[in-house]
Amino acid sequence: MITVEAPIKDAKNPPKIIFPDRCVNCGKPKHVVMPMKLNMGVEKRGRGVLMNFPVPLCAECEKKEQRITYVTLVPFLIAGLIVGVIAFIPAMLIAPEGTSQQTLGFPFVFGGLVGMIVGAIGGTVFEFVLKLLLAPVYGQLLLKRPLTILGFFNDSENVIGLSARFTEEKKSLRIMFENDDVAREFERLNS
Ligand SMILES: [Zn+2]
Repeated sequence: MITVEAPIKDAKNPPKIIFPDRCVNCGKPKHVVMPMKLNMGVEKRGRGVLMNFPVPLCAECEKKEQRITYVTLVPFLIAGLIVGVIAFIPAMLIAPEGTSQQTLGFPFVFGGLVGMIVGAIGGTVFEFVLKLLLAPVYGQLLLKRPLTILGFFNDSENVIGLSARFTEEKKSLRIMFENDDVAREFERLNS
């Protein structure tokens, strides 16, 4: 794995970075280009500025990339739901019964809340373990992807073979390559 930093001199005009014209993950001929965008956090003529850096992939790696959902989002949802339901039942049973009209539904609300929290934790743990187990198949950068639960705060772009995020104060874009040859070629193209 190699990390390359592409400097950004002007946040309002982020530089165009060039990828080698082949799959970023395995180096085979390019089949598709994956759109990658990160928000620069500044505005130009009233519109937010994005840094665009489309990444080439071969057909095989594109399919693999699509399958990654099955080892991240899907397991999180399924495990979360099962664990949540298991937690919901005892939580509902131990919750004190409401006495007035307003508090009658309290056991359900309490059970639902406990089920949601425990489900989110259970789903995240399951997703994390599955990622560790499947990193040899999908590449070590799989572990750099934010867990589903942290997806809302995601400030990185990830695709099979590549992970990119800004450095402090967005002075540069830090790109991690799974494939060392592609990384070296990228360095040559952008130096
Ligand atoms: Zn490939």
